[in-house]
Amino acid sequence: MIAVLKNGTTEEQMNTLIDWLKAQNLQVHVSHGADYTVLGLIGDTRDVDMDLIGSLDIVETVKRVSEPFKQCSRKFHPEDTVIEIGGGDCDLVKIGGGNFAAIAGPCSVESKEQIIEVAKAVKASGAKLLRGGAFKPRTSPYDFQGLKADGIELLLEAKRATGMPIVTEIMNAAHLPLFEDVDLIQVGARNMQNFELLKALGKIKKPILLKRGLAATMKELLMSAEYIMAGGNEQVILCERGIRTYETYTRNTLDLSAVPQLQELSHLPVVVDPSHATGVRTLVPPMAAAAVAAGADGLMIEVHTDPAHAMCDGAQSLTPAMFDEVMQKVTKLREVL
Ligand code: PEP
Ligand code: MN
Repeated sequence: MIAVLKNGTTEEQMNTLIDWLKAQNLQVHVSHGADYTVLGLIGDTRDVDMDLIGSLDIVETVKRVSEPFKQCSRKFHPEDTVIEIGGGDCDLVKIGGGNFAAIAGPCSVESKEQIIEVAKAVKASGAKLLRGGAFKPRTSPYDFQGLKADGIELLLEAKRATGMPIVTEIMNAAHLPLFEDVDLIQVGARNMQNFELLKALGKIKKPILLKRGLAATMKELLMSAEYIMAGGNEQVILCERGIRTYETYTRNTLDLSAVPQLQELSHLPVVVDPSHATGVRTLVPPMAAAAVAAGADGLMIEVHTDPAHAMCDGAQSLTPAMFDEVMQKVTKLREVL
């Protein structure tokens, strides 16, 4: 349920209403917008007297929210959420609400030289965040599983060398102590519905990049974001990375309609990963441009200095020169838009 407060409601009037709602065992989520304030009521609202709330002097409207997701719903929070990443020991980057950011780097961290070289290259082309997998979710247990804790250490060295905030994937909540200095924690497609992991990430104060599951609906993606937010962590970025269809020329099928649809349903930023969505290097630049045209708040692109010898996902990795071209095109496109 949401209650929209009238313009001119005082802080004291609002707090009186909030205390009364809390006394009915409801959680109250306050969203201050430029024009009005929205109170989002979470909990069992069946016995809440809507007519009584609607008749209060300070209340403009009161409505039930039919969607099962509440905190990530735009009805609860009409304005775009801006997620701030990094700051302190590295650059401060914003995503959402008109702030666009490209995340780039290799699929996996392989060595100190590799990650620092690629970090410098993608930064020079305009990427704001450095990605690199340390714990890799591989389909085969015999494939390279990532450098794990050492991989995170190398990402931290690249952060010190370039000032870029770092993004890397977590697969197990028990690894959280290793992610202390990671600026944006990624939940991969395969773990989108690992609810215990999502609950653990709800308890921390760090931004989360939540990737859409391989066969997840948009509603399921939003429900997973809700798990994180319900725990108290409201800093979630959604990522469209393609879904599985019957097509085999591409690794997945990039669902670009998810960008405007998720933005309509939710206030959270939406970024697009055209690398895992297509699996094919030549398809990444046009799909990156299409994602920007569709209104994405950011891109995540895999870049490797020597894709032919990459330990993971070389076929979809761009060279730094290709990435540079993509960024030039994206910049022009955003100017036109
Ligand atoms: C990744 O970004 O490294 C990754 C494994 O992606 P996804 O979870 O989307 O497959
Ligand atoms: Mn990859």
